[in-house]
Amino acid sequence: MTQAFRPMPVALLSGDLLTDRIAIVTGAGRGIGEGIARKLAEEGATVVCADVNVNDATSVASSLGHGAIGARLDVSNSSECDALVSDVHERFGRLDILVNNAGINRDAMLHKMTDEQWQQVIAVDLSGVFFMTRAASRIMRAAGQGRIVNISSASWMGNIGQANYAAAKAGVVGLSRTAAKELARSQVTVNAICPGFIDTQMTRGIPDAIREQQVAKIPLGRMGQPADVAAVVAFLASDEAGYVTGEVINVGGGYVL
Ligand code: NAP
Repeated sequence: MTQAFRPMPVALLSGDLLTDRIAIVTGAGRGIGEGIARKLAEEGATVVCADVNVNDATSVASSLGHGAIGARLDVSNSSECDALVSDVHERFGRLDILVNNAGINRDAMLHKMTDEQWQQVIAVDLSGVFFMTRAASRIMRAAGQGRIVNISSASWMGNIGQANYAAAKAGVVGLSRTAAKELARSQVTVNAICPGFIDTQMTRGIPDAIREQQVAKIPLGRMGQPADVAAVVAFLASDEAGYVTGEVINVGGGYVL
């Protein structure tokens, strides 16, 4: 006998998962960060789009509605991170969601990697997540609630030409799991998402032949889109995910299977 089709829970489809929430998304000026900002706003959140490129951040924010604003932020600068989080808290009186998405890559084989390439990636992709998580955790602990979602990468498990990036993204996994343990008593959840191969400016520079090789390794047969990552972020940021913390979730079409 065929099973009756079971619809998804209403809240997941409703478009108001995040009504009245205040969210910061870093690196929201384009790519995955823009996709995340768009999805959180569609679900009713007021989004602070923070990016080192303030023009992009402001232009994304102006298209979102729900009181979204753009802000200039270099996540590798500790005092800028403290200042942004405290400005948002002062302006809105709360901070419910932090998405640490900003990231860069500076790929090179290990034996050719410069100190600068190493340090730049660690500064943005790892220290940036620490600075923002530390600042937000102070507010979320006091409030007794909050959601932190960190964008790591499938590369955290090791990838040729990405010693700096893999080390930073593995660091994000360790940081997320530790923060999850420390903040659980304050009902703050912390999870990491590991996108696979997503169609953004970061991957558009890759030569066609290599892109095709990568896509051939994806069981679902296509590159991901920012919206594929954003859907999982929205869930983790919602009340529906209140019992999920310390998880490391692949969003890669089966890339790492
Ligand atoms: P992207 O298209 O290059 O966008 C990154 C955004 O972050 C840009 O707007 C960039 O600004 C901004 N940014 C760079 N440095 C910053 C800083 N110091 N402070 C604040 N903002 C900064 O990259 P993406 O593909 O969307 O990647 C987003 C995240 O997903 C990154 O953490 C990346 O590592 C991760 N990820 C991506 C993939 C993928 O396949 N695309 C896979 C796994 C993980 P500018 O415009 O000024 O550069």
